[in-house]
Amino acid sequence: MAVHNEVQTGGRLNPWEMAQAQFTAAADRLKLRDDLRAILSEPKRELIVHFPVRMDDGSLRMFTGFRVQHNINRGPAKGGIRYDVNVTLDEVKALAMWMTWKCAVVNIPFGGAKGGVICNPKDLSAAELERLTRRYATEISLLIGPHSDIPAPDVNTNPQIMAWIMDTYSMHLGYTVPAVVTGKPLAIGGSEGRMDATATGVAAMVELAAAEATLDLNGERVAVQGFGNAGSIAAKLLHKRGCRIVAVSDTQGGIYDERGLDPDKVSRHKQEHSTVVGYANAQPVSVAGVLEVPCYILIPAATENQITSENAARIQAQLIAEAANGPTTPAADRILFERGVRVIPDILANAAGVTVSYFEWVQDLQSFFWTSEEIADKLSHVMTRAYREVHAVAESERCDLRMAASMLAIQRVAEATQQRGVYP
Ligand code: NAD
Repeated sequence: MAVHNEVQTGGRLNPWEMAQAQFTAAADRLKLRDDLRAILSEPKRELIVHFPVRMDDGSLRMFTGFRVQHNINRGPAKGGIRYDVNVTLDEVKALAMWMTWKCAVVNIPFGGAKGGVICNPKDLSAAELERLTRRYATEISLLIGPHSDIPAPDVNTNPQIMAWIMDTYSMHLGYTVPAVVTGKPLAIGGSEGRMDATATGVAAMVELAAAEATLDLNGERVAVQGFGNAGSIAAKLLHKRGCRIVAVSDTQGGIYDERGLDPDKVSRHKQEHSTVVGYANAQPVSVAGVLEVPCYILIPAATENQITSENAARIQAQLIAEAANGPTTPAADRILFERGVRVIPDILANAAGVTVSYFEWVQDLQSFFWTSEEIADKLSHVMTRAYREVHAVAESERCDLRMAASMLAIQRVAEATQQRGVYP
Protein backbone atom coordinates (compact mmCIF):
# COMPACT_ATOMS: atom_id res chain seq x y z
CA MET A 1 0.00 0.00 0.00
CA ALA A 2 2.78 2.41 0.90
CA VAL A 3 4.57 1.96 -2.43
CA HIS A 4 1.31 2.45 -4.36
CA ASN A 5 0.61 5.69 -2.51
CA GLU A 6 4.13 6.95 -3.04
CA VAL A 7 3.77 6.50 -6.78
CA GLN A 8 0.41 8.27 -6.74
CA THR A 9 1.72 11.25 -4.79
CA GLY A 10 5.01 11.76 -6.62
CA GLY A 11 6.97 10.18 -3.81
CA ARG A 12 5.44 11.97 -0.82
CA LEU A 13 3.44 10.11 1.81
CA ASN A 14 1.05 11.05 4.58
CA PRO A 15 3.38 10.81 7.64
CA TRP A 16 0.88 8.68 9.55
CA GLU A 17 0.76 6.16 6.68
CA MET A 18 4.54 6.20 6.70
CA ALA A 19 4.75 5.54 10.45
CA GLN A 20 2.14 2.77 10.07
CA ALA A 21 4.01 1.16 7.17
CA GLN A 22 7.26 1.15 9.17
CA PHE A 23 5.48 -0.26 12.23
CA THR A 24 3.74 -3.01 10.22
CA ALA A 25 6.99 -4.08 8.55
CA ALA A 26 8.84 -4.36 11.89
CA ALA A 27 5.86 -6.00 13.66
CA ASP A 28 5.61 -8.58 10.83
CA ARG A 29 9.28 -9.39 11.16
CA LEU A 30 8.92 -9.70 14.95
CA LYS A 31 5.81 -11.87 14.47
CA LEU A 32 4.15 -9.59 17.00
CA ARG A 33 0.97 -10.98 18.53
CA ASP A 34 -2.24 -9.51 17.06
CA ASP A 35 -3.46 -8.07 20.38
CA LEU A 36 -0.17 -6.24 21.00
CA ARG A 37 -0.09 -5.07 17.41
CA ALA A 38 -3.60 -3.63 17.77
CA ILE A 39 -2.65 -1.70 20.93
CA LEU A 40 0.65 -0.35 19.59
CA SER A 41 -0.64 0.66 16.16
CA GLU A 42 -2.95 3.42 17.47
CA PRO A 43 -2.35 6.51 19.63
CA LYS A 44 -3.72 6.37 23.17
CA ARG A 45 -5.08 9.94 23.14
CA GLU A 46 -5.65 12.61 20.47
CA LEU A 47 -6.66 16.09 21.61
CA ILE A 48 -7.73 18.76 19.08
CA VAL A 49 -8.12 22.31 20.39
CA HIS A 50 -9.54 25.41 18.69
CA PHE A 51 -8.77 28.58 20.57
CA PRO A 52 -8.88 32.37 20.15
CA VAL A 53 -5.88 34.67 20.37
CA ARG A 54 -6.08 38.46 20.64
CA MET A 55 -3.92 40.01 17.90
CA ASP A 56 -1.96 43.24 18.34
CA ASP A 57 -4.52 45.20 16.27
CA GLY A 58 -7.29 44.21 18.69
CA SER A 59 -8.88 41.56 16.43
CA LEU A 60 -9.41 37.93 17.43
CA ARG A 61 -8.00 35.02 15.45
CA MET A 62 -8.87 31.33 15.89
CA PHE A 63 -6.07 28.76 15.89
CA THR A 64 -6.11 24.97 15.87
CA GLY A 65 -3.68 22.87 17.87
CA PHE A 66 -3.11 19.23 18.73
CA ARG A 67 -1.57 17.07 21.43
CA VAL A 68 -1.29 13.34 20.84
CA GLN A 69 -0.01 10.68 23.24
CA HIS A 70 0.85 7.52 21.39
CA ASN A 71 1.84 5.18 24.21
CA ILE A 72 2.66 5.59 27.90
CA ASN A 73 3.35 2.00 28.95
CA ARG A 74 7.04 2.64 29.67
CA GLY A 75 6.57 6.00 31.42
CA PRO A 76 5.14 9.52 31.00
CA ALA A 77 4.53 10.80 27.48
CA LYS A 78 7.32 12.92 26.00
CA GLY A 79 7.50 14.90 22.80
CA GLY A 80 8.02 18.27 21.20
CA ILE A 81 5.68 21.01 20.07
CA ARG A 82 5.77 22.23 16.48
CA TYR A 83 4.46 25.55 15.14
CA ASP A 84 3.95 25.36 11.39
CA VAL A 85 1.35 26.05 8.71
CA ASN A 86 1.61 22.47 7.52
CA VAL A 87 0.90 20.81 10.91
CA THR A 88 -1.89 18.18 10.66
CA LEU A 89 -3.33 15.68 13.10
CA ASP A 90 -1.83 12.84 11.04
CA GLU A 91 1.61 14.44 11.19
CA VAL A 92 1.37 14.84 14.97
CA LYS A 93 0.18 11.22 15.34
CA ALA A 94 3.16 9.99 13.32
CA LEU A 95 5.61 12.13 15.29
CA ALA A 96 4.08 10.83 18.56
CA MET A 97 4.49 7.20 17.46
CA TRP A 98 8.12 7.83 16.43
CA MET A 99 8.71 9.36 19.89
CA THR A 100 7.50 6.12 21.53
CA TRP A 101 10.00 4.08 19.51
CA LYS A 102 12.78 6.64 19.98
CA CYS A 103 12.51 6.62 23.79
CA ALA A 104 12.54 2.81 23.70
CA VAL A 105 15.59 2.65 21.37
CA VAL A 106 17.68 4.67 23.82
CA ASN A 107 15.93 2.88 26.70
CA ILE A 108 14.75 5.93 28.65
CA PRO A 109 11.54 5.58 30.70
CA PHE A 110 9.18 7.65 28.56
CA GLY A 111 6.34 7.03 26.15
CA GLY A 112 5.75 9.05 22.99
CA ALA A 113 3.78 12.25 22.43
CA LYS A 114 3.81 15.26 20.14
CA GLY A 115 2.00 18.57 19.80
CA GLY A 116 1.53 21.26 17.23
CA VAL A 117 -0.27 24.44 16.32
CA ILE A 118 -1.22 25.38 12.76
CA CYS A 119 0.38 28.81 12.40
CA ASN A 120 3.24 30.68 10.80
CA PRO A 121 5.20 32.07 13.75
CA LYS A 122 7.08 34.41 11.40
CA ASP A 123 3.78 36.25 10.80
CA LEU A 124 3.22 36.80 14.55
CA SER A 125 4.71 39.48 16.78
CA ALA A 126 6.52 38.35 19.96
CA ALA A 127 3.48 39.39 22.03
CA GLU A 128 1.09 37.44 19.76
CA LEU A 129 3.36 34.39 19.91
CA GLU A 130 3.38 34.59 23.71
CA ARG A 131 -0.43 34.87 23.91
CA LEU A 132 -0.83 31.98 21.44
CA THR A 133 1.60 29.83 23.44
CA ARG A 134 0.00 30.57 26.82
CA ARG A 135 -3.51 29.84 25.50
CA TYR A 136 -2.40 26.63 23.71
CA ALA A 137 -0.59 25.52 26.92
CA THR A 138 -3.82 26.15 28.85
CA GLU A 139 -5.88 24.13 26.34
CA ILE A 140 -3.53 21.13 26.45
CA SER A 141 -3.08 21.32 30.23
CA LEU A 142 -5.77 18.60 30.28
CA LEU A 143 -2.91 16.31 29.26
CA ILE A 144 0.46 17.84 30.09
CA GLY A 145 2.13 17.64 33.48
CA PRO A 146 5.49 16.62 35.01
CA HIS A 147 4.27 13.06 35.60
CA SER A 148 1.94 12.68 32.63
CA ASP A 149 3.19 14.40 29.48
CA ILE A 150 6.24 16.62 29.10
CA PRO A 151 6.60 18.86 25.98
CA ALA A 152 9.87 20.14 24.46
CA PRO A 153 10.93 22.30 21.48
CA ASP A 154 10.55 21.15 17.88
CA VAL A 155 10.30 22.99 14.56
CA ASN A 156 9.80 26.75 15.13
CA THR A 157 9.64 26.49 18.93
CA ASN A 158 12.49 27.31 21.30
CA PRO A 159 13.53 27.77 24.97
CA GLN A 160 11.53 31.03 25.28
CA ILE A 161 8.35 29.23 24.20
CA MET A 162 9.08 26.45 26.71
CA ALA A 163 9.52 29.13 29.42
CA TRP A 164 6.04 30.55 28.64
CA ILE A 165 4.50 27.06 28.80
CA MET A 166 6.22 26.33 32.13
CA ASP A 167 5.13 29.70 33.52
CA THR A 168 1.51 29.27 32.36
CA TYR A 169 1.25 25.78 33.86
CA SER A 170 2.87 27.00 37.11
CA MET A 171 0.55 30.04 37.35
CA HIS A 172 -2.50 27.75 37.17
CA LEU A 173 -1.18 25.69 40.07
CA GLY A 174 0.23 28.55 42.11
CA TYR A 175 3.72 27.09 42.41
CA THR A 176 6.68 26.54 40.07
CA VAL A 177 6.76 23.26 38.13
CA PRO A 178 10.00 23.21 36.11
CA ALA A 179 9.63 19.53 35.14
CA VAL A 180 6.50 20.16 33.03
CA VAL A 181 8.62 20.98 29.95
CA THR A 182 12.21 20.42 28.83
CA GLY A 183 14.40 22.52 26.59
CA LYS A 184 13.90 25.48 28.97
CA PRO A 185 16.40 28.28 29.52
CA LEU A 186 19.08 27.40 32.12
CA ALA A 187 17.82 30.14 34.46
CA ILE A 188 14.53 28.32 35.10
CA GLY A 189 15.66 24.70 35.35
CA GLY A 190 16.98 23.94 31.89
CA SER A 191 19.87 21.54 31.45
CA GLU A 192 23.42 22.04 30.33
CA GLY A 193 23.85 20.54 26.88
CA ARG A 194 20.17 20.57 25.80
CA MET A 195 20.54 23.14 22.99
CA ASP A 196 23.30 21.12 21.32
CA ALA A 197 22.01 17.68 22.31
CA THR A 198 20.27 16.56 19.11
CA ALA A 199 23.19 17.64 16.93
CA THR A 200 25.74 16.16 19.35
CA GLY A 201 24.00 12.80 19.00
CA VAL A 202 23.86 13.07 15.21
CA ALA A 203 27.59 13.84 15.10
CA ALA A 204 28.31 10.93 17.47
CA MET A 205 26.34 8.56 15.22
CA VAL A 206 28.32 9.75 12.19
CA GLU A 207 31.56 9.12 14.11
CA LEU A 208 30.50 5.61 15.10
CA ALA A 209 29.39 4.72 11.56
CA ALA A 210 32.60 6.19 10.11
CA ALA A 211 34.75 4.24 12.58
CA GLU A 212 32.95 1.06 11.56
CA ALA A 213 33.64 1.76 7.89
CA THR A 214 37.26 2.72 8.83
CA LEU A 215 36.57 6.09 7.23
CA ASP A 216 38.64 9.12 8.18
CA LEU A 217 36.20 12.01 8.66
CA ASN A 218 38.89 14.63 8.04
CA GLY A 219 38.00 16.51 4.88
CA GLU A 220 34.92 14.31 4.27
CA ARG A 221 32.10 16.14 2.49
CA VAL A 222 28.83 16.78 4.33
CA ALA A 223 25.53 18.28 3.08
CA VAL A 224 22.90 19.49 5.57
CA GLN A 225 19.24 20.10 4.69
CA GLY A 226 17.62 22.53 7.17
CA PHE A 227 19.83 25.05 8.97
CA GLY A 228 17.87 25.34 12.24
CA ASN A 229 18.61 24.05 15.73
CA ALA A 230 19.49 20.48 14.74
CA GLY A 231 21.04 21.15 11.31
CA SER A 232 23.17 24.23 12.01
CA ILE A 233 24.69 22.80 15.18
CA ALA A 234 25.36 19.43 13.50
CA ALA A 235 27.15 21.34 10.71
CA LYS A 236 29.26 23.24 13.29
CA LEU A 237 30.18 20.10 15.23
CA LEU A 238 31.15 18.14 12.11
CA HIS A 239 33.08 21.15 10.79
CA LYS A 240 35.03 21.24 14.09
CA ARG A 241 35.64 17.51 13.66
CA GLY A 242 37.38 18.26 10.34
CA CYS A 243 34.55 17.57 7.87
CA ARG A 244 33.95 19.82 4.87
CA ILE A 245 30.41 21.26 4.93
CA VAL A 246 29.77 21.59 1.19
CA ALA A 247 26.06 22.49 1.22
CA VAL A 248 23.34 23.75 3.57
CA SER A 249 19.76 24.90 3.04
CA ASP A 250 16.59 26.31 4.55
CA THR A 251 13.07 26.88 3.23
CA GLN A 252 14.26 29.70 0.94
CA GLY A 253 16.95 27.70 -0.85
CA GLY A 254 20.43 26.24 -0.54
CA ILE A 255 24.10 27.16 -0.94
CA TYR A 256 26.98 25.01 -2.19
CA ASP A 257 30.74 25.40 -2.04
CA GLU A 258 32.90 22.44 -2.93
CA ARG A 259 35.79 23.91 -0.90
CA GLY A 260 33.64 23.95 2.22
CA LEU A 261 31.47 26.53 4.00
CA ASP A 262 32.19 27.99 7.43
CA PRO A 263 28.97 27.16 9.38
CA ASP A 264 29.61 29.89 11.97
CA LYS A 265 29.76 32.52 9.22
CA VAL A 266 26.69 31.01 7.52
CA SER A 267 24.86 31.25 10.88
CA ARG A 268 25.72 34.92 11.18
CA HIS A 269 24.49 35.48 7.61
CA LYS A 270 21.24 33.65 8.47
CA GLN A 271 20.77 35.76 11.60
CA GLU A 272 21.10 38.95 9.55
CA HIS A 273 19.08 37.91 6.49
CA SER A 274 16.76 35.20 7.93
CA THR A 275 18.07 32.75 5.31
CA VAL A 276 21.31 31.09 4.20
CA VAL A 277 20.56 32.25 0.63
CA GLY A 278 22.86 34.98 -0.63
CA TYR A 279 25.88 33.86 1.43
CA ALA A 280 29.01 35.29 -0.21
CA ASN A 281 31.06 33.16 -2.63
CA ALA A 282 28.72 30.17 -2.55
CA GLN A 283 26.78 28.76 -5.47
CA PRO A 284 22.98 28.79 -5.13
CA VAL A 285 21.27 25.38 -5.09
CA SER A 286 17.55 24.62 -4.99
CA VAL A 287 15.87 23.42 -1.78
CA ALA A 288 15.57 19.91 -3.27
CA GLY A 289 19.00 20.05 -4.94
CA VAL A 290 20.88 20.15 -1.62
CA LEU A 291 19.98 16.50 -1.07
CA GLU A 292 21.66 15.52 -4.32
CA VAL A 293 25.01 17.36 -4.22
CA PRO A 294 28.21 15.28 -4.30
CA CYS A 295 29.02 14.39 -0.68
CA TYR A 296 29.72 11.37 1.52
CA ILE A 297 27.46 12.30 4.44
CA LEU A 298 23.95 13.74 4.14
CA ILE A 299 22.09 15.15 7.12
CA PRO A 300 18.40 15.79 6.54
CA ALA A 301 17.46 18.18 9.37
CA ALA A 302 14.22 19.76 8.13
CA THR A 303 10.91 17.88 7.91
CA GLU A 304 9.28 14.62 6.79
CA ASN A 305 9.07 13.28 3.25
CA GLN A 306 12.28 14.72 1.82
CA ILE A 307 13.98 11.55 0.54
CA THR A 308 11.37 9.73 -1.51
CA SER A 309 11.05 7.17 -4.32
CA GLU A 310 11.35 10.14 -6.67
CA ASN A 311 14.85 11.32 -5.66
CA ALA A 312 16.43 8.40 -3.71
CA ALA A 313 18.28 7.08 -6.76
CA ARG A 314 19.95 10.47 -7.30
CA ILE A 315 21.33 10.83 -3.79
CA GLN A 316 25.12 10.65 -3.90
CA ALA A 317 25.84 10.34 -0.17
CA GLN A 318 26.94 6.98 1.21
CA LEU A 319 25.86 7.73 4.77
CA ILE A 320 22.64 9.46 5.81
CA ALA A 321 22.15 10.50 9.45
CA GLU A 322 18.55 11.56 10.02
CA ALA A 323 18.45 14.58 12.32
CA ALA A 324 14.88 15.23 11.14
CA ASN A 325 11.97 12.97 12.02
CA GLY A 326 10.58 10.97 9.12
CA PRO A 327 12.67 12.46 6.28
CA THR A 328 12.84 9.16 4.35
CA THR A 329 9.82 7.27 2.97
CA PRO A 330 9.70 3.43 3.09
CA ALA A 331 10.10 3.14 -0.71
CA ALA A 332 13.15 5.42 -0.59
CA ASP A 333 14.53 3.27 2.23
CA ARG A 334 14.39 0.22 -0.01
CA ILE A 335 16.12 2.02 -2.89
CA LEU A 336 18.89 3.29 -0.59
CA PHE A 337 19.37 -0.14 1.01
CA GLU A 338 19.69 -1.79 -2.43
CA ARG A 339 22.26 0.85 -3.41
CA GLY A 340 24.27 0.16 -0.25
CA VAL A 341 23.65 3.61 1.28
CA ARG A 342 23.74 3.40 5.06
CA VAL A 343 20.87 5.24 6.79
CA ILE A 344 21.07 5.96 10.52
CA PRO A 345 17.35 6.29 11.24
CA ASP A 346 15.70 9.22 13.02
CA ILE A 347 14.65 7.16 16.05
CA LEU A 348 18.34 6.52 16.73
CA ALA A 349 20.19 9.42 15.04
CA ASN A 350 18.26 12.28 16.67
CA ALA A 351 17.49 10.54 19.99
CA ALA A 352 20.09 12.52 21.92
CA GLY A 353 17.61 15.43 22.07
CA VAL A 354 15.08 13.47 24.08
CA THR A 355 17.88 11.83 26.07
CA VAL A 356 19.13 15.17 27.40
CA SER A 357 15.47 16.17 27.88
CA TYR A 358 15.22 13.12 30.12
CA PHE A 359 18.31 14.32 32.02
CA GLU A 360 16.69 17.77 32.35
CA TRP A 361 13.47 16.25 33.71
CA VAL A 362 15.39 14.13 36.25
CA GLN A 363 17.39 17.18 37.38
CA ASP A 364 14.20 19.25 37.75
CA LEU A 365 12.45 16.55 39.78
CA GLN A 366 15.40 16.19 42.15
CA SER A 367 16.28 19.93 42.10
CA PHE A 368 19.91 19.00 41.74
CA PHE A 369 21.81 19.95 38.60
CA TRP A 370 24.67 18.29 36.76
CA THR A 371 27.69 19.85 35.08
CA SER A 372 28.09 19.91 31.31
CA GLU A 373 30.80 17.25 31.66
CA GLU A 374 28.41 14.94 33.52
CA ILE A 375 25.73 15.47 30.86
CA ALA A 376 28.21 14.79 28.03
CA ASP A 377 29.43 11.59 29.72
CA LYS A 378 25.96 10.25 30.39
CA LEU A 379 24.79 11.15 26.88
CA SER A 380 27.75 9.47 25.24
CA HIS A 381 27.09 6.31 27.27
CA VAL A 382 23.39 6.17 26.27
CA MET A 383 23.95 6.91 22.58
CA THR A 384 26.88 4.51 22.16
CA ARG A 385 24.94 1.73 23.88
CA ALA A 386 21.91 2.37 21.64
CA TYR A 387 24.03 2.38 18.48
CA ARG A 388 25.69 -0.91 19.43
CA GLU A 389 22.37 -2.55 20.35
CA VAL A 390 20.73 -1.47 17.08
CA HIS A 391 23.78 -2.54 15.15
CA ALA A 392 23.73 -5.99 16.78
CA VAL A 393 20.07 -6.49 15.73
CA ALA A 394 20.90 -5.36 12.17
CA GLU A 395 23.72 -7.93 12.01
CA SER A 396 21.68 -10.81 13.37
CA GLU A 397 18.60 -9.96 11.27
CA ARG A 398 20.59 -8.93 8.18
CA CYS A 399 18.43 -5.83 7.85
CA ASP A 400 18.91 -2.08 7.64
CA LEU A 401 19.32 0.06 10.75
CA ARG A 402 15.76 1.43 10.61
CA MET A 403 14.26 -2.04 10.70
CA ALA A 404 16.69 -3.01 13.48
CA ALA A 405 15.92 0.08 15.59
CA SER A 406 12.17 -0.36 15.06
CA MET A 407 12.32 -4.03 16.04
CA LEU A 408 14.32 -3.29 19.18
CA ALA A 409 11.94 -0.49 20.19
CA ILE A 410 8.69 -2.29 19.41
CA GLN A 411 9.88 -5.34 21.32
CA ARG A 412 10.62 -3.20 24.40
CA VAL A 413 7.25 -1.43 24.29
CA ALA A 414 5.42 -4.71 23.60
CA GLU A 415 7.14 -6.33 26.59
CA ALA A 416 6.08 -3.47 28.89
CA THR A 417 2.53 -3.63 27.52
CA GLN A 418 2.33 -7.37 28.02
CA GLN A 419 3.75 -7.25 31.55
CA ARG A 420 1.34 -4.51 32.64
CA GLY A 421 -1.62 -6.39 31.18
CA VAL A 422 -4.90 -4.95 29.92
CA TYR A 423 -6.89 -2.85 32.42
CA PRO A 424 -9.39 -3.68 33.99
P1 NAD B 1 14.10 24.47 13.52
O1 NAD B 1 12.81 25.14 13.39
O2 NAD B 1 15.12 25.01 14.46
O3 NAD B 1 14.82 24.35 12.09
C1 NAD B 1 14.23 23.80 10.95
C2 NAD B 1 15.02 24.28 9.75
O4 NAD B 1 14.60 23.55 8.59
C3 NAD B 1 14.83 25.75 9.41
O5 NAD B 1 16.10 26.28 9.06
C4 NAD B 1 13.92 25.74 8.19
O6 NAD B 1 14.11 26.86 7.36
C5 NAD B 1 14.38 24.46 7.52
N1 NAD B 1 13.44 23.82 6.60
C6 NAD B 1 12.14 23.51 6.79
N2 NAD B 1 11.66 22.88 5.69
C7 NAD B 1 12.71 22.79 4.82
C8 NAD B 1 12.89 22.23 3.53
N3 NAD B 1 11.88 21.62 2.88
N4 NAD B 1 14.11 22.30 2.96
C9 NAD B 1 15.14 22.90 3.56
N5 NAD B 1 15.03 23.43 4.80
C10 NAD B 1 13.84 23.38 5.41
O7 NAD B 1 13.75 22.95 13.86
P2 NAD B 1 14.67 21.84 14.55
O8 NAD B 1 14.35 21.80 15.98
O9 NAD B 1 16.09 21.99 14.09
O10 NAD B 1 14.04 20.53 13.91
C11 NAD B 1 14.44 20.06 12.62
C12 NAD B 1 14.08 18.58 12.52
O11 NAD B 1 14.76 17.88 13.57
C13 NAD B 1 12.59 18.27 12.70
O12 NAD B 1 12.25 17.16 11.91
C14 NAD B 1 12.51 17.90 14.17
O13 NAD B 1 11.39 17.09 14.46
C15 NAD B 1 13.82 17.14 14.32
N6 NAD B 1 14.28 17.03 15.72
C16 NAD B 1 14.58 18.14 16.44
C17 NAD B 1 15.00 17.97 17.76
C18 NAD B 1 15.40 19.15 18.60
O14 NAD B 1 15.88 18.91 19.73
N7 NAD B 1 15.24 20.36 18.17
C19 NAD B 1 15.12 16.69 18.31
C20 NAD B 1 14.84 15.59 17.53
C21 NAD B 1 14.42 15.77 16.22
